[in-house]
Amino acid sequence: MRDKIVIANWKMNGSREANRAWIESYRATGVRPDCRVVVCAPSVYLAELAPACRELGIELGAEDVNENASGAFTGEVSASMLADVGASWCIVGHSERRHIYGETDNRVAMKALALAKAGLRPIVCLGETLEEREKGMTEAVVLRQLNAVLAVLPPAKWGAVAYEPVWAIGTGRTATPETAQTVHASIRRRLGCYASEGADRLPILYGGSVKPSNARELFRQPDIDGGLIGGAALKAEDFVAVVEAAR
Ligand code: PGA
Repeated sequence: MRDKIVIANWKMNGSREANRAWIESYRATGVRPDCRVVVCAPSVYLAELAPACRELGIELGAEDVNENASGAFTGEVSASMLADVGASWCIVGHSERRHIYGETDNRVAMKALALAKAGLRPIVCLGETLEEREKGMTEAVVLRQLNAVLAVLPPAKWGAVAYEPVWAIGTGRTATPETAQTVHASIRRRLGCYASEGADRLPILYGGSVKPSNARELFRQPDIDGGLIGGAALKAEDFVAVVEAAR
């Protein structure tokens, strides 16, 4: 059996006050999740979020990391710093990092490796653009991104894979459960080559316009083990509704 996980990706949103309100709204729902719940927040807020999250059974994650351990990298944050302030998960290779900041497959792999060395669980994001999908390149792109990380880090050290088709992120356009399942199944097949290294227990999450109204159908697919939630994670009540769909 694989863990079901629902992960919030707050992106560059929030404030100390808004975060406190989110936590209070989450608490007020009285939700008792049947799955693991992770909140990935901007790194400046992690230390302050840590005690409240611990109390609520929410695991804490960051949204990005630098691949180096320490040194002259002005403005950057290392994996050990994230661990120091209470994070145990971290997203790597989000399409916004790949496309806006030009992160390569190799850099994503180095980030995942740095996280694992510091004892954090990388959430490795994969996904094709609309143009790549229309050219029939979906599987090739996703497996290329996957292989780059597998080349440096065995699956047992990963926290999760997140398949996030770029055309579905923040667009309101969700992949159909069948479309997502097809890609998840090919990721699962590829991971099958590493079964002896724990790959069969690695959760594969779907991300891209997941919301309360479509989460249940997506999470019902045999190879979809939960979700990475952006827009619908900004309101605690919506996020909780997605968490409840993972029963
Ligand atoms: P979305 O974002 O749910 O707003 O589409 C998902 C993500 O970017 O992780």
